[in-house]
Amino acid sequence: MKKTVQNFIGGEWTASATGETFESINPADTSEVVAAVSKSSRTDVDNAVNAARGAYRMWRLTPAPKRGEILYKAGEILTKRKRELGELLTREMGKVLAEALGDVQEAIDMAYYMAGEGRRLSGETIPSELPDKDCKSGRVPIGVCGLITPWNFPVAIPAWKLMPALVSGNTVVFKPSSHTPACAAMLVEILREAGLPAGVLNLINGSGEETGDYLASHYGIDGISFTGSTAVGLGIAKTCAERGKRVSCEMGGKNAIIIMEDADLSLALEGAVWGGFGTSGQRCTSSSRLVVHRAVHDKFLDMFAAAAGRLRLGSGLKPETDVGPVINKAQMEKVLKYIGTGKEEGAKLVTGGNACREGGCEKGYFIEPTIFSGVTPEMRIAQEEIFGPVVSVLRAEDLDDAIGIVNGTAYGLVSSIYTRDVNKSAVAERELDTGIVYINSSTIGAEIQLPFGGTKRSGFGHEEAGGRGGSLDMFTKWKVVYRDFSGRLQKAQIDR
Ligand code: NAP
Repeated sequence: MKKTVQNFIGGEWTASATGETFESINPADTSEVVAAVSKSSRTDVDNAVNAARGAYRMWRLTPAPKRGEILYKAGEILTKRKRELGELLTREMGKVLAEALGDVQEAIDMAYYMAGEGRRLSGETIPSELPDKDCKSGRVPIGVCGLITPWNFPVAIPAWKLMPALVSGNTVVFKPSSHTPACAAMLVEILREAGLPAGVLNLINGSGEETGDYLASHYGIDGISFTGSTAVGLGIAKTCAERGKRVSCEMGGKNAIIIMEDADLSLALEGAVWGGFGTSGQRCTSSSRLVVHRAVHDKFLDMFAAAAGRLRLGSGLKPETDVGPVINKAQMEKVLKYIGTGKEEGAKLVTGGNACREGGCEKGYFIEPTIFSGVTPEMRIAQEEIFGPVVSVLRAEDLDDAIGIVNGTAYGLVSSIYTRDVNKSAVAERELDTGIVYINSSTIGAEIQLPFGGTKRSGFGHEEAGGRGGSLDMFTKWKVVYRDFSGRLQKAQIDR
């Protein structure tokens, strides 16, 4: 059933000022319109920013444990509506239902985790060098935050940003991907139902080029937290730097799994299939490169090709489906173009390579799980993020060679190594230049209680999610207070 998705501004669901709309389409069946969506103009963005500014003082002064209680309630509602939201998510962006439910679960985890932070937003008390004086530091909100999110985790990634932003006392203007507005609207509605006061969270729908760009450049916004492609992220970072705004960008990846000669190949195979073709290769953490030791390369390639050939394409709502569609026509064309590039560069197409238009895939954007072998590190298919079900297999001479290949791209989000040798795993852990390293596990599987982010062109600013160095660092500033109760002027560094 087609939904109507409006903006949410100042506590009210409202049509855009121009009354214009756009559609969100099911990528597995393009004849299904999932939602008709309000298309924001600059006036709508201004209204949302004003509503967030208006609510800021009230929200900042609401005790953090009370803010946390609202997030806890949102976690409970999300839990109750997990299946409903998961099915909507599959219809709107295509991932298989089990993964969609995982996406929602991540938001639930984040809600509960950040609810707890409401009672933990601690600072420090430090001794002064002077008598009768005390010094402390504590976290304070940064103000009104703009959140710009992608379609590939349309519930989890907004939750990664919303929950820490809200618990720390910021108010928010949220611009989700224009491919997943219905998921965003349901998440916002759940937070409203949980008791978030009017104006604290505002949702504006619209394209990145117009609505997103205007939001990032808006002087009423104090900080932007962005997740998406590297090209867009670097542009947003520049816009924010020019305006002196805080900014954090989580961006693309070209993640790799190393498979050493002593690896458990069956285990590595499961990890490679899951990492390469899960979410149709559309995760920032997808394993788009396999770097395989020459001693097991040919054997592993045969195993991998056979496993990829067994994967079933189709609607993510069907229980038998392994791999869903890619998000839209432009992405399908981009992925097919990269497959053409791989062939032109001289890589060997081992399996897949085509769009699929049969067996229930006639009306969607489906691409066969695709593997290239004979890929060399400088090829574009080994360097650039493809964001589709395409895996490049590279041969490595030894561990040093493998680590060099993995580190030899502009990205640094995630890497993994399969080995039974503890010494090799320790060297890999130390030398792999990525924000996250997995040992004997795929490149997918981050948990919310640790920070998430990449090096080089994969990340800029603060990490996301929980733990030390997680997203509270993005959404809070440190405020330092010195209190002198000596009753006289005491001069630091001078009165000694
Ligand atoms: P995208 O095209 O960069 O879009 C991300 C968000 O930015 C969307 O809301 C988009 O709006 C908006 N946007 C686009 N152009 C903009 C502009 N000029 N100014 C302001 N906002 C703009 O990325 P995507 O295709 O949605 O997502 C896939 C990318 O995200 C991949 O590169 C993937 O690796 C990356 N990603 C990274 C992480 C991570 O944590 N590192 C996680 C997930 C995904 P529209 O949707 O309306 O275009």
